[in-house]
Amino acid sequence: MTPRPDPSRHSHTGHGQERPLRRRSGSDQDLIADLRRLDGRNYGAYKSVTGDWDYGDFSLAIDRVQSDPYAPPSSLRALADPRRMGVPADCLATPDQRLAVADYLLRAFHEALGAYAPSGDVHIARAGQEILQRSACTVDPERVEVRFQVRMPAHGRTIQGGAAARLFDLDVPDTVMATFDFVSEDAGERVEALRRHVHALEDHRALQEALAQRGWIAFVADGAVLARRSGISQKPLEEAVPFASPDTLRQRLTLPHAGAVTGMALEPGVTVIVGGGYHGKSTLLGALQRGVYPHVPGDGRELVATVPEAMKIRAADGRAVSEVDVSAFITHLPGGADTTHFSTENASGSTSQAASLVEAVELGSQLLLIDEDTSATNLLIRDARMRELVHADKEPITPLVDRIGGLARERGVSTVLVMGGSGDYLDVADRVLMMDTYRCLDVSARAREVCAAMPRQRSDIQGFDEVGARTPLRARGGAERPKTKAQGLDQVVLDRQTVDISDVEQVVDPGQSEAIAWAMRGLLEEVFDGHTTLGEGLDRIEALLREQGLDGLTRFGAREYPAFLVRPRRVDLGAALNRYRALRLA
Ligand code: ADP
Ligand code: MG
Repeated sequence: MTPRPDPSRHSHTGHGQERPLRRRSGSDQDLIADLRRLDGRNYGAYKSVTGDWDYGDFSLAIDRVQSDPYAPPSSLRALADPRRMGVPADCLATPDQRLAVADYLLRAFHEALGAYAPSGDVHIARAGQEILQRSACTVDPERVEVRFQVRMPAHGRTIQGGAAARLFDLDVPDTVMATFDFVSEDAGERVEALRRHVHALEDHRALQEALAQRGWIAFVADGAVLARRSGISQKPLEEAVPFASPDTLRQRLTLPHAGAVTGMALEPGVTVIVGGGYHGKSTLLGALQRGVYPHVPGDGRELVATVPEAMKIRAADGRAVSEVDVSAFITHLPGGADTTHFSTENASGSTSQAASLVEAVELGSQLLLIDEDTSATNLLIRDARMRELVHADKEPITPLVDRIGGLARERGVSTVLVMGGSGDYLDVADRVLMMDTYRCLDVSARAREVCAAMPRQRSDIQGFDEVGARTPLRARGGAERPKTKAQGLDQVVLDRQTVDISDVEQVVDPGQSEAIAWAMRGLLEEVFDGHTTLGEGLDRIEALLREQGLDGLTRFGAREYPAFLVRPRRVDLGAALNRYRALRLA
């Protein structure tokens, strides 16, 4: 990687250059006495407690103090030795175990806040249903670090020293100790909960390992709960019908912790999910798309796994497309545009989905997940009558049904497609699943009979050529007031460009969007040079994250000790870049 750029170039929004303060150090009692002494002084005087404070069982780093009461809260870290905390050795031995412990501790801290810091002045990043690598908490063999924020109390702009002293005498240490304590007498249950968390991650990793070894693309365990509580909640639906594999697809495997499990194993190729409306098709596909991530114990999808780079592909009209070869799907457009290097600032439903699909193949995704609910119909199907009425040379679109088999056989890219509204895919499918009142049936044999009885009237089935690698150019950068941020799951902002990533559905945590924003800045301004392909650039970011963790992104200007970053998947970072309107290619 190129060396860390001159930090003076990066005065990102809210990251104003603050004169480095001398860090102080002392005991917790020194800190508390100091805070009392600050009572009644101007808010700026809080900066004097920047430093490292020894609480005995842990140490507290106050890294950055907010400059006024309305600024973003102050940044802190609590540090301790996991062995002294009582974290069992069998939870610290591997990077995966430590990742799961970190994810657990973040959740525990959040929960402890409710009990020990009712003032609401202490905050930490929130976590959803997935176990992910997060900058808010990291665990090394000898060190646990939790990053959180404290709003320093004030009356107007006057320091409330007594309230601050109470925060640092009670709320903060009580929360930290409730999070870090795995040794005291009543900690037994917490040790067990921690172990379950570690085991959930390890079993999911083992499942993905099994997929690779046995050549499957997905596994859904018998008994898994796939349905979610609501359209806006990822919590499990309580009265859901548990998943049961069709007998024909049931496989058995042994996991390190769950032991022997059975479930539905999907082989590569084309899998079509059919069934009546409201019978659970999209729910199954949704579980597969989240199956790239491990889930917390109790989620219901702990033993659902898909190949790691599986990508949900949907229509997103209005997205930008930069020089993508969409000719497999789109040719001779009315204006005569070259569709082997297709660019647009405003894609239609079908061109957007075609571009997203080709981009996923370019990035090396092995599995595409497509739902009729979120697709452009004209990209998916064209029936015999329409093929008769509108001649091929007048119709720019080659529907996916003509390419999906070639994609699997020639490019090794499998598809799971939800399609309840058309039988066109039945004879290109390697297997057909039917959802029937939330039961999953293998209707492949019956589908073959139907196809034999009602053969396709016309066939335009074609192959799928290799997708070339694109090589982005370096972006100018050096904006006067660089801005790098994310808004929830839907947007990334780089200077004046807003990138809509709402259709990149496997970005599941706002911290992933934020990490994507910083990684995009790094890729565009420092990694891409007109010779490095998109895929190679993404590999460089993967290597950086592997070696340095999410803190590696600070080299692109993210503030030191970032507390809200979550590791995105390589392919999702690629998808975000592909939606960047100013992307230029060599
Ligand atoms: P489809 O895509 O077939 O139209 P959905 O997957 O959207 O159906 O599911 C329809 C409704 O049924 C949703 O509200 C979903 O939460 C619920 N549902 C799905 N699977 C189950 C299940 N196994 N048990 C209970 N409810 C379910
Ligand atoms: Mg549906």
